[in-house]
Amino acid sequence: MRLILIGPPGSGKGTQAQLLCQRQNLVHISTGDILREAARLGTPAGLRAKPYMDSGKLAPDDLVNEVVADRFRREDRPDRFVMDGYPRTEAQAASFDQVLRQQFLDLTAVVLLIVDDAAIIRRIIHRWSCPKCNRTYHSLDNPPKVSGICDQDGTPLMQRADDKEATVLQRLKVYRENTLELVPHYHRQGLLREVLGEGDIESIYSRILQVLSYQAGPRC
Ligand code: AMP
Repeated sequence: MRLILIGPPGSGKGTQAQLLCQRQNLVHISTGDILREAARLGTPAGLRAKPYMDSGKLAPDDLVNEVVADRFRREDRPDRFVMDGYPRTEAQAASFDQVLRQQFLDLTAVVLLIVDDAAIIRRIIHRWSCPKCNRTYHSLDNPPKVSGICDQDGTPLMQRADDKEATVLQRLKVYRENTLELVPHYHRQGLLREVLGEGDIESIYSRILQVLSYQAGPRC
């Protein structure tokens, strides 16, 4: 299975990508995680992306396209994957189409998660994540077993710097202005599948599998 998840910030792309990767054995490729890690390490790409990330704007297409193309040109390139947060513009989609063609990889589907703005803001301002394994929690709907601590590895949880309400509103604006143009792009390719991204995590996961016509398998 080769998937792209599209949806506004806070629509649950990361959570669903993690589930798909655990249960369907896919590689999770999150450009947000890659860029945050690059910024933390102070690499040239990370330093260039950081001001955009901090203000909720998109990092330049050439930078993100290069990061992704690099990942797919490596010897250990993923064969089955879920893209989370890439592509986000028409130019990125065109670049990714080319990378996939060069690698002889066909996409299975592009899943568009639909969530309204009020639900997004509520989700994001209560979102906590583990800086070590990137697992995400919601302090009301999906809290860790011990408050403030990752269930998986015991690391203290953090809130993302760009999860403040003002930055979230900016990210929603960017989503509408740039990322929604991907909908006709993938519709034309016959790949687009719409899924209601509201409700509990397992129901959303089942809906995704339903539109992909896969059976929910056991956790691996
Ligand atoms: P995310 O974790 O996907 O919400 O991404 C966090 C931030 O990283 C975004 O607000 C952008 O600044 C940057 N970013 C991640 N993916 C992309 C992308 N495909 N294109 C441009 N910027 C990106």
